Amino acid sequence: VIDNGQPEHSVITTCAYCGVGCSFKAEMKGDQVIRMTPWKGGSANHGHSCVKGRFAFGYATHKDRLTKPMIRQSIDEPWTEVSWEEAINFAARRLREVQDKHGRKSVGGITSSRCTNEETYLVQKLVRAALGNNNTDTCARVCHSPTGYGLKMTLGESAGTQDFDSVMQADCIMVIGANPTDAHPVFGSMMRKRLREGASLIVADPRHIDLLETPHAGEGIHLPIRPGTNVALINALAHVVVTEGLEDEAFVAERCDPDDYLIWRAFVAEQRNSPELMADVIGVPAETIRRAARQYATAGNGAIYYGLGVTEHSQGSTMVMGIANLAMATGNIGRPGVGVNPLRGQNNVQGSCDMGSFPHELPGYQPVNDAGVRGQFEVAWGVSLEAEPGLRIPHMFDAAIAGQFKAMYVQGEDIAQSDPNTQHVEAALRSLELLIVQDIFLNETAKFAHVILPGSTFLEKNGTFTNAERRINRVRKVMPPLAGKEDWEITMALANALGYPMRYRHPSEIMDEIASVAPSFANVSYDKLDELGSIQWPCNDEHPEGMPVMHTDSFPIGRGRMVVTEFIPTTEQVSETYPLLLTTGRILSQYNVGAQTRRTDNNVWHSEDVLEIHPHDAQLRDIADGQPVTIASRTGSTVLKARLSKRMQPGVVYTTFHFPHSGANVITTDNSDWATNCPEYKVTAVQVSGSDAH
Ligand code: SF4
Repeated sequence: VIDNGQPEHSVITTCAYCGVGCSFKAEMKGDQVIRMTPWKGGSANHGHSCVKGRFAFGYATHKDRLTKPMIRQSIDEPWTEVSWEEAINFAARRLREVQDKHGRKSVGGITSSRCTNEETYLVQKLVRAALGNNNTDTCARVCHSPTGYGLKMTLGESAGTQDFDSVMQADCIMVIGANPTDAHPVFGSMMRKRLREGASLIVADPRHIDLLETPHAGEGIHLPIRPGTNVALINALAHVVVTEGLEDEAFVAERCDPDDYLIWRAFVAEQRNSPELMADVIGVPAETIRRAARQYATAGNGAIYYGLGVTEHSQGSTMVMGIANLAMATGNIGRPGVGVNPLRGQNNVQGSCDMGSFPHELPGYQPVNDAGVRGQFEVAWGVSLEAEPGLRIPHMFDAAIAGQFKAMYVQGEDIAQSDPNTQHVEAALRSLELLIVQDIFLNETAKFAHVILPGSTFLEKNGTFTNAERRINRVRKVMPPLAGKEDWEITMALANALGYPMRYRHPSEIMDEIASVAPSFANVSYDKLDELGSIQWPCNDEHPEGMPVMHTDSFPIGRGRMVVTEFIPTTEQVSETYPLLLTTGRILSQYNVGAQTRRTDNNVWHSEDVLEIHPHDAQLRDIADGQPVTIASRTGSTVLKARLSKRMQPGVVYTTFHFPHSGANVITTDNSDWATNCPEYKVTAVQVSGSDAH
């Protein structure tokens, strides 16, 4: 029930859900939030919000919140509530025991893109400085790690090129593998506004998304590609650009590496990459692909926005590089209205990557195996650092099952529900000698834990989030932490108990340290954030107030690097037994695995995951709308209700993953991106049949 009375005071803070990063006024009576109102001064949202953000405060006071630290010797035992001191000392002692028994590298830590920059920074610092290895990773591993890799390889910076406002100057908006009106609703509305004003639209997605229904003055093209054929599509689009003379020759000559360009150009010009030869593979008529390529290349300002439908594939990184190639070839980089723009799923995906939560990179994307870089951090942190990159999340699971990885500290991430092939993940977690879970709810991962450290919500702490446009926004504490500690204080206490001193008095001091070690954050401080409202990095002496549009004059690597993007079909193919392809996505009122939104009023709108199936496929299987169906893959099976929908193409089915019992990740496979191990959530061959399980 929402109290609509008058607030006594209000605090400006940032939504903790998606990568838009909307600014809100938390309206308060005493310590209670009575309303969240979108803040007009917010540079990302300009006073708008979606149905998720407005009701987000509901989960902060939900009865399921964890309020007491708990420990147990084994996962078969009941939990014992203990003091913070006892829980922290227990965790630290057991971590050291595991290291003494199995070696320094037998432990690691995972942080979350839902946590603040300061919290993720501290987790990776704890792993590196206190535990002495680089086994640190973030849940961005399973969403946008290919963005980090692909954009760094081509444009030289692991981040989107534009600010959101830039879309208002786009003449052609190309959306690939994203559903902005559901997953990034405030930015989706901004896109709609621009479309109504006259921009044209291209959507490359197996599913007919709502954006296609927006009345728009320009032409709208839907490319309903077969899941797994993104790279074939981007090569076919590039083929049309180079063979029909649609390149921006001046941009290419001035900004791109000439040798790379000639090699890339010769590759995409090959007939095997033509729309005519790839149409059957992609599942879209050649003429439609040609029209899309012409529309994007000749529009004036062509802007590409993409989501997890690009990254969560075995060729996710290849596709990101293919998008950057196409943007460079057409001169669509370096000014408002164009660019390559990843739509980050969670509030702080960009930030968790910036903060060095990767096993091979220190904060600021600086390689850990570079002695010079390491030396600077050794001075700053007062400790020697391990040179060898550590384990990525999936490799931690593999090593755990092989008996080589024995303890894990997980902050704010439900790996048991969100990572693919649940059976494999659970086997790995069960084999650990110590699992420390720091979270706000007793999530699926906690079933395998030995220590529970109750975390704090975005309303209970100070910090910063960095949104999809590199905008660093302040998160401000509006109520005391329910369990008594903010997350950064918990990590700091654990580091101190491990014998590595951390002495921060406020997250602003952590940000000051980040600014001293990460060059793109050099001039960022809480005072400056308060003064400017928000800052888009890089923020340094060259760009003292940040940089809304990147790569205006040059790339950080000098010239843009075009990369050959050979299409290699995924090994996950349909067969007689598994004749349909399953792909996954999100719905407007729920967020990710639903741990937060399921505990708010949003549940009223969407209270279960369903399987969308084309009426033709349903008829072949004698499946009626609303009927429970069994979905079986080569990995596992689950039961969902069917929803007959012409949004899907025949041969492709779709579900969301907001509810633990829906078991979407029981079905998904172990396939992953060749460069980053981001799981291939978007392509699973399945069979669907009527079920009497429900
Ligand atoms: Fe804004 Fe995203 Fe929060 Fe909605 S979920 S209010 S779009 S940040």
